[in-house]
Amino acid sequence: MRYHNITHDDMKNGDGLRVVLWVAGCSHNCKGCQNPVTWDPNGGLPFDEDAKNEIFDQLSKDYISGITFSGGDPLHVMNIQGVRELAAQIKEEYPLKTIWVYTGELWENIKSDPLIQYTDVLVDGPYMQELGDNTLRWKGSKNQRVIDVQESLKSGEVVLHCPEY
Ligand code: SF4
Repeated sequence: MRYHNITHDDMKNGDGLRVVLWVAGCSHNCKGCQNPVTWDPNGGLPFDEDAKNEIFDQLSKDYISGITFSGGDPLHVMNIQGVRELAAQIKEEYPLKTIWVYTGELWENIKSDPLIQYTDVLVDGPYMQELGDNTLRWKGSKNQRVIDVQESLKSGEVVLHCPEY
């Protein structure tokens, strides 16, 4: 896995203050993507021990609500195994911190992935410029869903994290 950035105290990519890992690699080619620089899976930096320590150091702070995986696409073939392993370690060490994942994939196609068991909220689907709306909370276009993953798994149907968005 490679990554472009780790941002701290982020308020725009999930509930509370979060650490965000921006991975490299995305094959969705959404028209109007804000981050095309992240599409190349060979871009950015290798995700190494220093990067991992930086994330765990952030998560150790009481005021950090959790981690958000964004990019790029955390479910890109070059990222998914690294993201699964990191999410598993985070849930083991910090079970009360939440894990949010942004992906261009659809919930229906990925709900069986091992990453999902560690995920609290999934923002799914490609960015669609014609449905774009910068007043939406936690997502860029109206087709995307902010999904309460654990409740969706329990009920067998999509449950939104907050129905009004
Ligand atoms: S899924 Fe996200 S990062 Fe990938 S092209 Fe679409 S908007 Fe850009």
